[in-house]
Amino acid sequence: MALRIVTEANRCLQCKKPLCQEACPIHTPIPKAIALFKENRLMEAGEMLFDNNPMSVICSIVCDHEAQCAGHCVLGRKSSPVTFYNIERFISEAYLDRMKIEKPEPKGKKTAVIGAGPAGLTAAVELAKAGYEVTLFDDNDHIGGMLNYGIPDFRLPKNLLEKYQKVMNKMGIQFRPNTSFGESLRIQDLFRDNYASVFIGTGVWRPKTLGIAGESLANVHFGVSYLAKPDAYELGDKVAIIGMGNVAMDVARTALRHGAQQVTLYARSKRIAASQHEMEYAQLDGAEFAFGYAIQEITPEGPVFRIAQFDENDKVIGYEPETELVRADATILAVSQAPKNRLLLTTEGLMANDRGLLITDENCMTTVDGVFAAGDVVHGSHTVVAAANEARLAAQAMMRYMEN
Ligand SMILES: Cc1cc2nc3c(=O)[nH]c(=O)nc-3n(C[C@H](O)[C@H](O)[C@H](O)COP(=O)(O)OP(=O)(O)OC[C@H]3O[C@@H](n4cnc5c(N)ncnc54)[C@H](O)[C@@H]3O)c2cc1C
Ligand code: SF4
Repeated sequence: MALRIVTEANRCLQCKKPLCQEACPIHTPIPKAIALFKENRLMEAGEMLFDNNPMSVICSIVCDHEAQCAGHCVLGRKSSPVTFYNIERFISEAYLDRMKIEKPEPKGKKTAVIGAGPAGLTAAVELAKAGYEVTLFDDNDHIGGMLNYGIPDFRLPKNLLEKYQKVMNKMGIQFRPNTSFGESLRIQDLFRDNYASVFIGTGVWRPKTLGIAGESLANVHFGVSYLAKPDAYELGDKVAIIGMGNVAMDVARTALRHGAQQVTLYARSKRIAASQHEMEYAQLDGAEFAFGYAIQEITPEGPVFRIAQFDENDKVIGYEPETELVRADATILAVSQAPKNRLLLTTEGLMANDRGLLITDENCMTTVDGVFAAGDVVHGSHTVVAAANEARLAAQAMMRYMEN
């Protein structure tokens, strides 16, 4: 591994106008990190990456590299691109293990972060680094959000989150687990208790339904709920998955690893939401794909579909007159998620759009003064790097707010 990444680092052309860096949503200083790495200045490289993006090591593993950094490397035009993400992983993992934390001058103000996913963790780190006293609240018992309870461990090793927990402790960020806002505690309670500002990074945890008959049957499950605790389910041998996004791919691969013999993903059209490489991995694991299957209802025997007719451009132009029952022991719906509405129902003045996503201004402030938000709860299901990027901006806006 070490030898391979040295070879990769040596291939970097140190472009004056690095397209890889431009294409990275959080503008990771790629040539600079590679240069420091080559000079054996590993901790300096790690510090620079962490300062730019506290989620660096996670992004190095879960980003869609082909669409972002690696996909824009000039070397990729004629041969293979520099796989910077492997170098980033090496540097950032080493840095997490060895980072030295110097306590900043305390600002004498405390701030609350609700949600310990990538957005909340990034905001908490930024605020703590600047000397604010941060309390991080989460509904779950561990930090990480979808990194812990969504993305399966065969894709993202969970020991990384334990390392993050240690870093948070060292930074003095206090974590309050199993604390759901919008139930016993409300946002107003935070202002009563002298928090100077609040960050919401609560993500999208409500599985979307299709409004079809059969969704409440015993053999029907939701993709994100399944991924949170796959051991709790007895799916049987034959599993049908409705949807072909990245979540559906993770569901398929997890089900196959938990003993399912035949896993098929169904999509209405031939265009799929998942990235090419996620689909290829699912295929390698043995998942099958069926296109042109529009779900009609779900029965105890399995899902019932209308079969699409396509034109020469693969556009759906109609359906076969007969429906088709596909026998399956379990059907899993993986058709996207929306935010839960607990915060909206309990916070006066907090507003959302028609998809239930929080409305924010250019400073990431919600419609409630002093309450900021970023990540999936604002944009819907997106990516780790996007959540981290926006949370960083939100944290900066929170600091300006608290200082004024
Ligand atoms: C199965 C799956 C696979 C994915 N794969 C990838 C991938 O490969 N690459 C990639 O970049 N992105 C991927 N994503 C998307 C990525 O995980 C999300 O975009 C990212 O986690 C969003 O971060 P967030 O902090 O906004 O929200 P989340 O990660 O959802 O975190 C929100 C946190 O808020 C907590 N919370 C919610 N409500 C409350 C409340 N009322 N009170 C207290 N706490 C609350 C939750 O428990 C959670 O910990 C995937 C998502 C899923 C579901
Ligand atoms: S954050 Fe993601 S896109 Fe940016 S350099 Fe790292 S792996 Fe590539």
